Amino acid sequence: MTAKIEEDVAHGPAEPLVSDSEQLPFPVLCGKIHDRIAAFLEEKDMSPKLKQVQEQTRISLGVIEEALDRYSLPELSLAYNGGKDCLVLLILYLCALHTKGCSRAAPDTNEHPAIQCVYIQAPDPFAEVEEFVASSTRTYSLSLLEYAKPMKAAFADYLHDTPQVKAIFVGTRRTDPHGEHLTHFDRTDHGWPDFMRIHPVIDWHYVEIWTFIRHLNIPYCILYDRGYTSLGGTRDTHPNPALRKPLSTQGNVPNGTANGTTTPKFRPAYELIDDYEERLGRDK
Ligand code: FAD
Ligand code: MG
Repeated sequence: MTAKIEEDVAHGPAEPLVSDSEQLPFPVLCGKIHDRIAAFLEEKDMSPKLKQVQEQTRISLGVIEEALDRYSLPELSLAYNGGKDCLVLLILYLCALHTKGCSRAAPDTNEHPAIQCVYIQAPDPFAEVEEFVASSTRTYSLSLLEYAKPMKAAFADYLHDTPQVKAIFVGTRRTDPHGEHLTHFDRTDHGWPDFMRIHPVIDWHYVEIWTFIRHLNIPYCILYDRGYTSLGGTRDTHPNPALRKPLSTQGNVPNGTANGTTTPKFRPAYELIDDYEERLGRDK
C-alpha cells in the first residue's frame, strides 16, 4: 500500500508549492497555485486514486466559485487552524480567487484583497501547530484573527469584530463528528452565532486529502510526520495508535533514542488509509 502512495506522489512537482523564505506578491502566489492545480487537472494516465482527487478538486472549486458569486470577498472568511483539511481548502480558495480575477490589487490603493481567516486557539496548543499557523499566515498573506476561547463564544466575538462577514469556509469532512448531514452550504445550527457555513471539501476522503497535499507538494504541519492524524490540543491529542511501528523496528531503547539519534515510533499520517481510523489519536 505504501509503495502505491509513493507512486502517486512521485509524479507530482518536485519543488514545494511555496517556501517559508520567499513571500510572493499575492496575485503571483494565487497564479502559481492556480497553474499547479490546472496542470494537475490536465494530467492523464494516472492512478484511479489520483483521478478521484481530480474529480474532488473540480467539485470543490465549483463550490468555492459559487461562494464567490454569492458573496463579496469582505463577506467571506475561512476557519483556519493549520490542519490538513483547511489547508487543502485554503489552497483551493486561493486558486479560485485567481480564476475569478479576485486576487489583483485594487488600482486606487495597490493593496491586495484581505483573505480573512479566523483561528481559535486550543487551551493547550501544540507549539508546532502555532508555528505552522504563523508561518502559513505569512506565506499566504492571510488576514488572520485569533481567539482563545470556546468556539461558540469565539465566533460571537469574531462576528462582532468583523460585522461584514456573512459566510465562513470550514474544512469539515463527512466522517468528522457532526459531518454526516452537512451539505456544501448550511447555516449554523440553533444555539450558534448565525452565519452561513461553506463546506467545499465535505466529501473528500482522508486519503484524498493526503494525495492532494503530497502530489502537489504543499508544505504542511510537521506533527503529521510524527504520526498525528487529527490535531487538537496537547492534552487530548496523541499520535495515532494505528500508525505505531512494530516494536522490532523501533530500536531497543525505551524512548526510541539510540546513539543520539531518534528512531520514530510512528509512521507518518499520510500512510493511514481508513477514514474511520483518523481520530484514534484523539481522546474526544
Ligand atoms: P477538524 O478536522 O479539526 O476541523 C474541521 C474544520 O473546522 C477545520 O478544517 C477548520 O476549518 C475548522 N476548525 C476546527 N478547529 C478550528 C480552530 N481551532 N480554529 C479555526 N477553525 C477550526 N458545530 C455544530 O454542531 N453546529 C454548528 O453550527 C457549527 N458551526 C461551526 C462553524 C464554524 C465556522 C466552525 C469552525 C465550527 C462549527 N461547528 C459547529 C463545530 C464543528 O462541528 C466541529 O466540532 C469543529 O470544527 C471542530 O472540528 P473537529 O475537531 O471535529 O475537526
Ligand atoms: Mg479534519
